[in-house]
Amino acid sequence: MYPAVFLDRDGVIIKNRPTYVRTWDDVEILPDVLPALTRMTTRPYKIVIITNQSAVARGLISLRAAEKINQRLTDAIKKAGGRIDGIFMCPHKPDDNCECRKPRPGLIFQAADTLTLDLKRSILIGDALTDLQAGLNAGVGKIALVLTGRGLQQAQSLEVQQMKPFPVFDNLTQALDALYE
Ligand SMILES: [Zn+2]
Repeated sequence: MYPAVFLDRDGVIIKNRPTYVRTWDDVEILPDVLPALTRMTTRPYKIVIITNQSAVARGLISLRAAEKINQRLTDAIKKAGGRIDGIFMCPHKPDDNCECRKPRPGLIFQAADTLTLDLKRSILIGDALTDLQAGLNAGVGKIALVLTGRGLQQAQSLEVQQMKPFPVFDNLTQALDALYE
């Protein structure tokens, strides 16, 4: 069993888009992410992206196109010297009531089954309450909020403040440096 670092995609790895990420042109990798992911390759963690993409169920982008964007993102990270071991995507919309849309833990469980992960020893980094809740619901050992993406606004929400204390970091680099053992 491997520990994993679970990363949300939009807001942690790439910029959030109010009108969804629909094409590769909408993808802008956040400035510290490529060096941070490259440094991660020396650690014994699986690196896993978990992402809600309701734009698929809303008919704004095909499943195939969404998967292609994920593949290109993986390729870009690899080209920069990093690695992604898996991307797990929920294509549904909230009222589909699926098991995989965060804050539900389904995506994390899919990843754990596929990659043989030890969730207790794993880390989850997200920019939204729903990311943190998914981590808690799945039993991920360490969860953290980053202030990129929606993080700054989410950190101020009452729901986030009412959750048990969890660390908050400016960006992915700071979160990874602090959370690794
Ligand atoms: Zn789903």
